[in-house]
Amino acid sequence: MLDTNRIEALRHAPVDRGAHIIDGARRAASDGAEMEVISPLDGSVLTTIPRGTREDAEAAIAAARRAFDDGRWSGLAPAARKAVLLRWAELIEEQALEIAVLGVRDNGTEIGMALKAEPLSAAGTIRYYAEAADKLYGEIAPTAPGHLGLVHREPAGVVGAIVPWNFPLMIGAWKLGPALAAGCTVVLKPAETASLSLLRIAELAQDAGMPPGVLNVVTGEGAVVGDAIARSMDVDVLVFTGSGPTGRRLMEAAAQSNLKRVYLELGGKSPNIVFADAPDLDEAAKVSAMGIFRNSGQVCVAGSRLLVERAIHDDFVARLAKVTDSLRVGDPLDPATAAGAVNSEVQLQRNLGFVVEARAAGRKVHGGERILAETGGFYMAPAIVTGVEPTDRIAREEVFGPVLAVQPFDTEDEAVALANGTDYGLAAAVWTSDLSRAHRLVRRIRAGVVHVNTYGGPDITVPLGGVKQSGNGHDKSLHAFDKYLDLKTAWIKL
Ligand code: ADP
Repeated sequence: MLDTNRIEALRHAPVDRGAHIIDGARRAASDGAEMEVISPLDGSVLTTIPRGTREDAEAAIAAARRAFDDGRWSGLAPAARKAVLLRWAELIEEQALEIAVLGVRDNGTEIGMALKAEPLSAAGTIRYYAEAADKLYGEIAPTAPGHLGLVHREPAGVVGAIVPWNFPLMIGAWKLGPALAAGCTVVLKPAETASLSLLRIAELAQDAGMPPGVLNVVTGEGAVVGDAIARSMDVDVLVFTGSGPTGRRLMEAAAQSNLKRVYLELGGKSPNIVFADAPDLDEAAKVSAMGIFRNSGQVCVAGSRLLVERAIHDDFVARLAKVTDSLRVGDPLDPATAAGAVNSEVQLQRNLGFVVEARAAGRKVHGGERILAETGGFYMAPAIVTGVEPTDRIAREEVFGPVLAVQPFDTEDEAVALANGTDYGLAAAVWTSDLSRAHRLVRRIRAGVVHVNTYGGPDITVPLGGVKQSGNGHDKSLHAFDKYLDLKTAWIKL
């Protein structure tokens, strides 16, 4: 149960001015510039954070480089790194509600989801990788007699991590957990509109005993701080979650600098396919609604395209609309809220733009208007758009908002063709009672994760990564270590 009195007390708690964390110390921007943190709850100014400069990014990278090269972290016994990371996870858990509320005031996610998915999930992720730190073995190769081939797994060096605003701690921890457990050092750039909770947990890392320079956080604009990280000659690995256009820029920057390895997670246009033989249409409607509308649709794996077998199309859309109408949208610090605020005015206008365009093209729209404008916050009623054509922008482009595009299909083949008919390949779902069909579709749909009779919720034990233009590389599970560990061969004559 959420402690509503505590949440109300935290709702108005003053927020300290943010500071970079560089080499274990709080720092302002080199030129003193700051940016305002606007709360999506009511449009008020929460605090300021440094508007980081290229020099700030370079100072953080230099600190991370020194910390990596002198072995203060990579040279520790893995069990010693584990102990620090476990302590860090504990501190995050101890302050979970405070951190969650701070994050909600910054990015607008509903508190129930935020608490679970942000500090608590981040702590769980850090703990998962901490526990694995001293279980990463090398290999002995099956060579011919006369030689010994050893395959070492070594920390890859300095990691640049650029993360988005929808789940800053969850996604941040997906990068930080394996990178730090592997022995890498990190320079993290949070999104402009969701930096506060990451700054807070970076301070807790110092309290947990993480040596200075191992985890550095630099706030500011993507085109300045993010770009400096991407172009650095001293960053070995760049990991990113965000938009496709930024992902392309990062690959270019890597190509133009030191060919650092770049791992991208770029969102999707994920198909949620409901067959007439779905085991429970009410359950499917409920889960499908949350699969797109939780966190106001600002979820990379959101099931933003609903493909429904024509025989049940109208019935299912009616059930879905009923569920959607029952969702409470509004104040994200009210535990009864199902979907909180949209992250920013810019994002809200973008979401509304998709709805206006769909209406203008003659599509039927249920919901989809700005609401609660009198609060000064950024709120939107979930939108269900029916009659969508595969060529519509709403069927092809990621909205990253509470906007669902619905399309009917007649056959399994047509469902697969529609499902695979975008540039993305992140997530999908299939609702059916036919086990063979479920397995067939798992194979035929090009996506990093295919849910069956559910949507969302895969835990840390399974990988998350996209195919096609949804990205490369995987977060989560032990596979995530591959990004942060280099293979080194020792070839020894016996
Ligand atoms: P979103 O649409 O989710 O905001 P972005 O790709 O714009 O996606 O942002 C994700 C992260 O990428 C943010 O931390 C942002 O500051 C950063 N970013 C944006 N533009 C650039 C850039 N040119 N170079 C590096 N990082 C960037």
